[in-house]
Amino acid sequence: MSEKKLSQVDKDLVVTIEYKLIVEDEVIDSSDEEGPLTYLHGYENILPGLEDELLGMKVGEEKVLELAPEDGYGEYDEEAFMDVAREEFTEEVPLEPGVELHLTDVDGDEAYATIVEVGDETIKLDFNHPLAGKQLNFQVKVIDLRAADPEELAHGHPHFEGNHNHQ
Ligand code: ZN
Repeated sequence: MSEKKLSQVDKDLVVTIEYKLIVEDEVIDSSDEEGPLTYLHGYENILPGLEDELLGMKVGEEKVLELAPEDGYGEYDEEAFMDVAREEFTEEVPLEPGVELHLTDVDGDEAYATIVEVGDETIKLDFNHPLAGKQLNFQVKVIDLRAADPEELAHGHPHFEGNHNHQ
């Protein structure tokens, strides 16, 4: 791989960024707490809108950018509610408004939902992402780039110390 290709963010490169996500003047997520984020570019490991903005950035370059809801976690969907019978929940789940659930259906598809109402027989769930309908403000800085190895490209994500042996 040529030197030129490694000088800026491009598909098939493993990219490490420092970032801060600010929504409605509040810092929601930041590499100050989580540590820098390393991802494989071009595989939708991160928000596609953020990936588009990072394309072509150089190591050391910083950017402040705004993503509209449709480029972030989607518009708020007034229809994305469902009433689920109480007996569908295991006993470990605290049935209280505001509790966020990570659900997996029979096909293995994952979804997030928030409890909005607790009735005698049914629990109302909101399937909107907590950041749906919000404008996202990101501060990003590219701090490292490297070529991905063939196994990482086949898996569609980077490998670190410690996750080499996963299935
Ligand atoms: Zn892998």
